[in-house]
Amino acid sequence: MTPKIERFLNQTHIETPFLVVDLDQIATNYQALRAALPVADIYYAVKANPAQPVLRTLVGLGSCFDAASVAEVDDCLAAGADPARISYGNTVKRQRDIARAHELGVRLYAFDSIEELHKLAVEAPGSKVYCRILVSNGGAQWPLSRKFGCELDMARDLMLTAEDLGLDPHGISFHVGSQQMDPARWEMAIGRAAMVFSDLREAGLELKMIDLGGGFPARYRGDEGRPADDFAAAIMNAMTRHFGNNLPDMIVEPGRCIAAEAGVIQSEVLLVSRKTYDDPTRWVYFDVGKFGGLAETMDEAIRYPVATPHDGTPEGPVVIAGPTCDGADVLYEKYRYTLPLALGAGDRVNLLCAGAYTSVYASQRFNGFAPMAEYYI
Ligand SMILES: *Cc1c(COP(=O)(O)O)cnc(C)c1O
Repeated sequence: MTPKIERFLNQTHIETPFLVVDLDQIATNYQALRAALPVADIYYAVKANPAQPVLRTLVGLGSCFDAASVAEVDDCLAAGADPARISYGNTVKRQRDIARAHELGVRLYAFDSIEELHKLAVEAPGSKVYCRILVSNGGAQWPLSRKFGCELDMARDLMLTAEDLGLDPHGISFHVGSQQMDPARWEMAIGRAAMVFSDLREAGLELKMIDLGGGFPARYRGDEGRPADDFAAAIMNAMTRHFGNNLPDMIVEPGRCIAAEAGVIQSEVLLVSRKTYDDPTRWVYFDVGKFGGLAETMDEAIRYPVATPHDGTPEGPVVIAGPTCDGADVLYEKYRYTLPLALGAGDRVNLLCAGAYTSVYASQRFNGFAPMAEYYI
C-alpha cells in the first residue's frame, strides 16, 4: 500500500466496499515498464481500469492505448488521447463500430480471421492492420485460451490478403496470457511471430511491427519477486536472436502491471463463523465478492493479499466468501488463506493489488449490492 493511500484510508471513513487508486503509482508503474523496455511503445490496455483519472494520467505521460470497443475509444478521446495513438485491439468487432472508430480517427486494427478482415476493408480502408497469432498461454494464471488468434499459415495468408483488400498489412500480435509468470513464454511467442515475418518477407511483404501483448504480472499473494527487468531481458534477447539488427517497431499492451498495484479495495467483515464446533477453519464473509468486482477469484486464479487491523497477531485457517446468496460467491477455499484469530464482524480489511480488473467487473445490483465506489487520488 502506498503512503498516499494509507493517509487517505486513515483520514476518511467511507462506506465499504470501495476502491482507491493512487495515480502517482500508475505513473510509477508506467515509467518502470518504459525504463525496462525503452524501445517498445506502450499501449495501455484500457479494460484493466478505464477510469478517466487513470487514462488522463497516462495521456500526460505520452502513453498509447489499446481499446476493445467504441466506448473505450471514446473514453480515451475524452481523456485527451490522440486517435492516432489508439489501437482497436479486439479481434471481434461489430461492423458499424469499426466505421465509428474510423470516423473518430483510429487507424490501427487487430484481426485474426478473413471475415474480420473483410469488415475492416469496407469500414476502415487503408488502415494499418495486424494479425493476432495463437501462442501458448501455459504459465499464465489468467489464460486467454484459444479464443483469440489464428495459426501461422493462416496469419501469413491473411496478411497477403489484407494488402489485396487495400489495407496496410502492418504487423503481428500475440498475448501470452494474463499474469504470466514465465518470461520464456514471450521468447517462444516471438519465435512464432518471427516465422510469419520471414515467410512474408519471402513472399515480398515486409512487416513493420510486432505487438508483444500484455501479461506482465503484478505481485499478488505468492507471486512476489519477479522484476519487470526479467521479462524485458527475455523479450530483448528473443527479439535480437530472431530479428538481429532489423528490429521491427515493438508494441506492448500492459493492463494489469500498470493498474493492479496502484489500487486497494477496502471491505468490511460481515461475519466470522464456523460450520462445526471442532473445525479450526473459520468462514470469513467480506462485503465484496465475486459479483462485486472480484471476478478474477474464479478458480482462485488471482489471489489478493489481504491486510487486517490485527496483522501480527496469531492466525488460523479461513475460507473467504463474498456477501451474496450465491454459492459460487466463495473467493478462496482450496487455496488456504490464514487470517488473525482476532478478526471479527465490523473490522475493515484491505485487499491489496486490486487496481486492475476489479471495478469494471462489478455487477449492477445482484442481491441488491451496488458496485463499489471508486476514488482516484
Ligand atoms: C487484456 C488484454 C491486454 C492486457 O493484458 P494484461 O495481462 O492485463 O497486461 C493486452 N492486450 C489485449 C489484446 C488484451 O485483450
